[in-house]
Amino acid sequence: MCIKMNALLKWLVLPGLLFSPVAVWALYKPVRVLAPQWVPGITCVTKDICLEDVTRYKQAERIYNESLAFVEANVAAVEHPPRVIFCSTENCFQSFGFNKSAAQTVGVYGMVISPRGWSQAYLRHEMIHHIQAEHLGVYKQWRSPEWFSEGMAYALSDDPRPKLAEPFQRYREKFQLWYQATGKDRLWEEAGKL
Ligand SMILES: [Zn+2]
Repeated sequence: MCIKMNALLKWLVLPGLLFSPVAVWALYKPVRVLAPQWVPGITCVTKDICLEDVTRYKQAERIYNESLAFVEANVAAVEHPPRVIFCSTENCFQSFGFNKSAAQTVGVYGMVISPRGWSQAYLRHEMIHHIQAEHLGVYKQWRSPEWFSEGMAYALSDDPRPKLAEPFQRYREKFQLWYQATGKDRLWEEAGKL
């Protein structure tokens, strides 16, 4: 899943003129991804790995490293490895403003993993959203069609599910056809034209 950046921009830029940063922090929870160390109950063990239950650091670190290596080897270079916040409870996930999904990425600023999302497949999926934002820019990624942004994340993360819930199955198939015709070398150039 990829948060709609217009909502973020609307809440960050426009009310920022009217409200204090404290109000933005309180009202628009995904902005907390920018400074998770300020969120009660979250510990950042490294600059890139923050978590709720520090006893699970080794598990988080393994999933993080394996997912990053997979994406770099199979999809594209990662310019700045993303910050990942690993939640062990739904309360933690909800404190960033999320609930239904297994994980959420906020532009190039970081991602939050729910208790249901501790797996390489989910991390790889979110890291693909991260590199989309890096290569296309946050605005262009937000403007790109969903069949591309989600289809690419499902297809190139090697999601093990043979059949996804719609519309994601359709998005994955559409992306795969487009990618076969486009090729890895022209991926970002052509994606920028969508
Ligand atoms: Zn997604």
